[in-house]
Amino acid sequence: MSDPRSQELSKSLAAVNRRIDAAVASAGRSVAPELIVVTKYFPAEDAVRLVRLGAAQLGENKDQEAAAKAKQVAEQLENESPRWHFIGQLQSNKAKSVARYAHAVHSVDRGKLVAPLSRGVLAALESGERTGSLQCLIQVDLRRSAPDDGRGGTAPDAVLGLAERIAEAEGLELGGLMAVAPLEESPLQAFERLAELSQRLQEEHPTAAAISAGMSQDLEDAIQCGATHLRIGRDVLGERPAPR
Ligand SMILES: *Cc1c(COP(=O)(O)O)cnc(C)c1O
Repeated sequence: MSDPRSQELSKSLAAVNRRIDAAVASAGRSVAPELIVVTKYFPAEDAVRLVRLGAAQLGENKDQEAAAKAKQVAEQLENESPRWHFIGQLQSNKAKSVARYAHAVHSVDRGKLVAPLSRGVLAALESGERTGSLQCLIQVDLRRSAPDDGRGGTAPDAVLGLAERIAEAEGLELGGLMAVAPLEESPLQAFERLAELSQRLQEEHPTAAAISAGMSQDLEDAIQCGATHLRIGRDVLGERPAPR
């Protein structure tokens, strides 16, 4: 691939992968986390370039943008379509759409989403738009004193109850936990609490082992704390264009 943007993406992707490898080594881990490249605000062409460069898992945070992009990318790539991870605040009226293209939703943060997601998956299975269950991660609010500012995430003490509902829902698979590091605390401390919560969750749901944590700024801390999935945008794609 010789176009300048592909070369740029190739370089930044390699740099991020070097950071990941170094952090995995210094954490003494034997398994590297999976890299999800967050393509929000960037065009479908960049998503196509990334898949061709070997980034097979992409993340989006708005249904409208994600649905259109997933369609465009699928048209251009046919058999090598990426796995889409939905990582943004989800409204229940978008659950049906998300269930058509998403491999996983990282941002399940309330019981109200469970039934719409389940119905959406069953409909998409029926129509042939998807072939397997939807991985659902519970987004946890790691702030110690949390104003309800709509940024999403369920309180830590509500995780087990929500997990139960997801585990019982048809078409959904409880994958694990997701969190964004709070601003007012070191990411390392916050991610340690997430790891403890994950341990508790796995006592009841042994297969729900995913820990989705780590963005461009704090991926090393997340790897240190056992993250299994990283969500990296800026350090691969560059500064995001202003939202439209
Ligand atoms: C945008 C976004 C990311 C990626 O963040 P960067 O700082 O660009 O790496 C990760 N997680 C969520 C939930 C996001 O919305």
